[in-house]
Amino acid sequence: MYGQLETYKPPEWAATLSYIPKKRIQLAMTNTPIHPWKLPGVPEDFSVSVKRDDLTGCALSGNKIRKLEFLLADAVDQGCRHVITCGEFLSNHCRAVAVSARQLGLTPHLFLRTDITDVKRAGCEGNMLLNRLCEAHVYLVPPHHDYDTDVMDSMQRLVRNIRASSGESCYVIPMGGASKTGLFGYIHAFEELRQQGVLEQFDDLVFPCGSGGTSAELAIANHLTGGHLRLHGVAAAHSVDFFYEHCDKSLKEVGLGHLKSRDLLRVVGGFIGRGYGLSTKQELEFIQHVAAQTSVMLDIVYSAKAVLGLVSELRNNPSAFQGRRILYLHTGGIFSLYDERMTPVLEDREEQQHHIKLLSQMDETPV
Ligand SMILES: *Cc1c(COP(=O)(O)O)cnc(C)c1O
Repeated sequence: MYGQLETYKPPEWAATLSYIPKKRIQLAMTNTPIHPWKLPGVPEDFSVSVKRDDLTGCALSGNKIRKLEFLLADAVDQGCRHVITCGEFLSNHCRAVAVSARQLGLTPHLFLRTDITDVKRAGCEGNMLLNRLCEAHVYLVPPHHDYDTDVMDSMQRLVRNIRASSGESCYVIPMGGASKTGLFGYIHAFEELRQQGVLEQFDDLVFPCGSGGTSAELAIANHLTGGHLRLHGVAAAHSVDFFYEHCDKSLKEVGLGHLKSRDLLRVVGGFIGRGYGLSTKQELEFIQHVAAQTSVMLDIVYSAKAVLGLVSELRNNPSAFQGRRILYLHTGGIFSLYDERMTPVLEDREEQQHHIKLLSQMDETPV
């Protein structure tokens, strides 16, 4: 039942893994739909469809919620009253934690990396608006603090402070939900793909890579179900090697250490543009073009880069694909569009391209 702590039973093909979480709470609105996608620029001999994991919910949407079904179940099962996590300032993971923690009656605490040093300048843009609406406790962390050491130390200090002052216990989620328990997000979701007929109806699955969780989870699940799909993760951050190493580590965590990530997954580099979280004019214009042509909203940090990468690969490197039937996994992130960045793309257009007019101008400039 939605929102209730339940004993987790993995799909049959995953039952042999050396680690399986005990509990799950359904938080995502599933099954998310799959539909054909008339993506501009795709060569005619390819067909592209999209799996809409941007529709796993409203404020609680995107791929992160799939991990949180297991992580927050673990938190509730352990009797924790607080959830603590960290990420970049406008992190989707942190926003998803803020919203889902409140949904389950837990108090969210977010450690957000930023160069902002004045709390009055934290603003209400993008995910921050939702963090603030949910009254998440936010701690602004200097950008040079390392997640695994400095930020982890700070989070542990908060755990001790909360315990000392209230006796309540905390659940700490590492950056991006990257833990053994979080790994079950897309392992579990793969059963949904399988039941939707994806393994027969598609040859290739394409998705963005950020922390590497989604790619590792898909690689494990695709392998366990017979390796029907070829997986292409487009890097939106880090080096290509980072994702292979992350996947190798995840394979070990579930008892598949004899496998090599490079045999299970193809990571595509070269589409990071100006860098993680930074946008090029081409990426921003592409978001606008895809929205107007297909009504699918790409996000600024991940999908704009990954989908540009997909189109470019289909045109310039078609032999990298196993077949002609491509499925793109839309991982969400719409709230990144609610910042100032899109404004110049929409406003600085030639006058005749403006779609906003006064009523009195309607007759002068027909469509
Ligand atoms: C986090 C995120 C990703 C990347 O997923 P990882 O599991 O971190 O690799 C992709 N798209 C969106 C919208 C995200 O929020």
